[in-house]
Amino acid sequence: MNDYKICKRCVSDTTISEIQFDSNGICNFCKIHDEMEIQYPIGKKGHKKLKQIITKIKEEGRGKKYDCIIGVSGGTDSSYMLYVCSRLGLKPLAVHYDNGWNSPIAVSNIKKLLEQLNIDLYTYVVNWAEFKDLQLSFLKASTSDAEIPTDVGIHGCLLRVASKFNLKYIMNGHSFRNESLMPKSWTYMDGLYISSVQNKFGSKKLKTFPNVTLSDFFYYSFIKGIKAVPILNYIKYDKTKAISVLEKKLDWKYSGGHHHESYYTEFFQTFLLPKKFNIDKRITELSGFIRTNQITRELAINELRDNEYPYRKELINYTLSKLDLSYSDFNKILEDKPRTYKNYDTYYPLIKLFQKPIKFGTKLGLLPYVLYQKFFN
Ligand SMILES: [Zn+2]
Repeated sequence: MNDYKICKRCVSDTTISEIQFDSNGICNFCKIHDEMEIQYPIGKKGHKKLKQIITKIKEEGRGKKYDCIIGVSGGTDSSYMLYVCSRLGLKPLAVHYDNGWNSPIAVSNIKKLLEQLNIDLYTYVVNWAEFKDLQLSFLKASTSDAEIPTDVGIHGCLLRVASKFNLKYIMNGHSFRNESLMPKSWTYMDGLYISSVQNKFGSKKLKTFPNVTLSDFFYYSFIKGIKAVPILNYIKYDKTKAISVLEKKLDWKYSGGHHHESYYTEFFQTFLLPKKFNIDKRITELSGFIRTNQITRELAINELRDNEYPYRKELINYTLSKLDLSYSDFNKILEDKPRTYKNYDTYYPLIKLFQKPIKFGTKLGLLPYVLYQKFFN
């Protein structure tokens, strides 16, 4: 490990293949963070910007039952966002993408929150046989993107529900301050990637999966005018405080880890990524916390050094049995050589050709700035 290097400001390190360091030893992800701080200010400026956004959403939603959509998982970010939007006086419709992997805590959290905040819920339940086949295809594809069927599915579902209810705003629970920018080499997703992997490894045709193809993207963005609003980027979002607010005010429960409200995400992050791909997503999360002074760098380094990502053995059994995957087949998957999205058909070559229009799109607010950074940084 002679070439091992870690950023002097955060804990991002050379396990991220595209990491770069400047002459002071600071990584490119810290630079992106600083640029995004300017793009999404907090404090007085952020408050003003947020007020403008909320006023516009309310005006457009006057007389309607709902004025925006919020995807809910029962986890911290989306739960806190529900709470914030409710306090801001918005009239959200909550949408839950049920992919079959909800933990009981997640289900109970969603129920408690919506009842107390008096928010309606729209649940989309996946066709399990088809979704399971897609998840298996991504395990066989041997890339670190095995959880994108859920991420793309959620996005596709939110777009369709927004369109159905004639709503233009999808409140997005991503916070660059807490989650950092996810490196492309760790997670890459698009609709063509989904279908090309499924065509290659799947045994079923995707008939019900709410994929987001390029034409879907153009239809929902430009014809329907649906936009994602990264609301948590405009407020000081301290995760520990958010958890305590949710627990005290809404009897909500923390599921014990980032995105552990889904059993599959927990399996994916605590076992599959570290064991097979040497990817520890605590690095990006802790780096975000360091940059925003929610934890010291020393504490984060100790945490990563002293503790392997803890995983629950019984969760491996549960996952394999739910996927009807034998231990020997799973071992083959674990031993298979890791590949990347570059080994499959994706929109990425096309995206690269359109760098300038995409940059323009982010300026118009049609595309999230974080996406531009991800693709081109
Ligand atoms: Zn850094």
